[in-house]
Amino acid sequence: MGDGVGQARKAKSAAGRKTGGEPQSTAPTRPVAKPKRATGTQTNKKAATRTAKAEKGYKPLAPERVKAILAELDRLYPKVRCALHHNSAWELLVATILSAQCTDARVNMVTPVLFKKYPTPQHFAALQPEALEPDIRSTGFFRNKAKSLVGAAKRIEQEFGGKVPADMEKLLTVPGAARKTANVVLGSWFGIAVGVVVDTHVHRISRRLELVGKSSNDPVKIERDLMKVLPQSRWIDFSHQIIHHGRSLCVARGPKCVECPMEPLCHATDKTWSTVEMHKNAR
Ligand code: SF4
Repeated sequence: MGDGVGQARKAKSAAGRKTGGEPQSTAPTRPVAKPKRATGTQTNKKAATRTAKAEKGYKPLAPERVKAILAELDRLYPKVRCALHHNSAWELLVATILSAQCTDARVNMVTPVLFKKYPTPQHFAALQPEALEPDIRSTGFFRNKAKSLVGAAKRIEQEFGGKVPADMEKLLTVPGAARKTANVVLGSWFGIAVGVVVDTHVHRISRRLELVGKSSNDPVKIERDLMKVLPQSRWIDFSHQIIHHGRSLCVARGPKCVECPMEPLCHATDKTWSTVEMHKNAR
């Protein structure tokens, strides 16, 4: 993971040296075209014609564009895995519940101690939620999370014979498991693609790459839109790859567009650097 990004960074910084730019700088060496909507201030006739042409041919959901994005993700983030450490479906379920409003790194610090103390759903089911709170306090929202974990363990013990069910409908009856959690467990442990994990990175980047509707703000709607546009065989890996991309380059504030190999495919309005003609309705 990250090799492609490294190469792209090296190539861009080498280009900088050739043209006399600061060796340590990541500043662009080509003329910077700040992303703008192609309306209003564009008085130049030639530019207007160029934009109109680009607009005409630009289809954010064109199969070849989606294919190009997926190919770039594969190149950048091959062999992606779920970042939450786990050794069973139960451990992954617990880690995913704990990861709400918390970093994966923090969850990965908490879970080894937790699973050493309480190795199975039976152990969790026998607890009062208050007993779990000190162990998971650092992940935030620990009271609710403790209730969810004990509730989930009881449900799995009583309804599913102590085994996490490999079924979306059943998983959705487990306390603390909404669609995102269920998709993580089904995709990353069971290898079953029934949906797309939509976390904060997938939410933000799917919109930046215009893979989902302009007004998509609801994770369920975003997931539905992604399921329409992505081949089912990519539903699991896509989320992992986008999450990696969101951490390394396409960060929430100040995305590192100058270093991003997907930049020529991207029309996000909050790009920090652009080489492409922005289409009029860029999102
Ligand atoms: S070009 Fe910028 S906004 Fe677009 S995907 Fe890359 S980092 Fe994100």
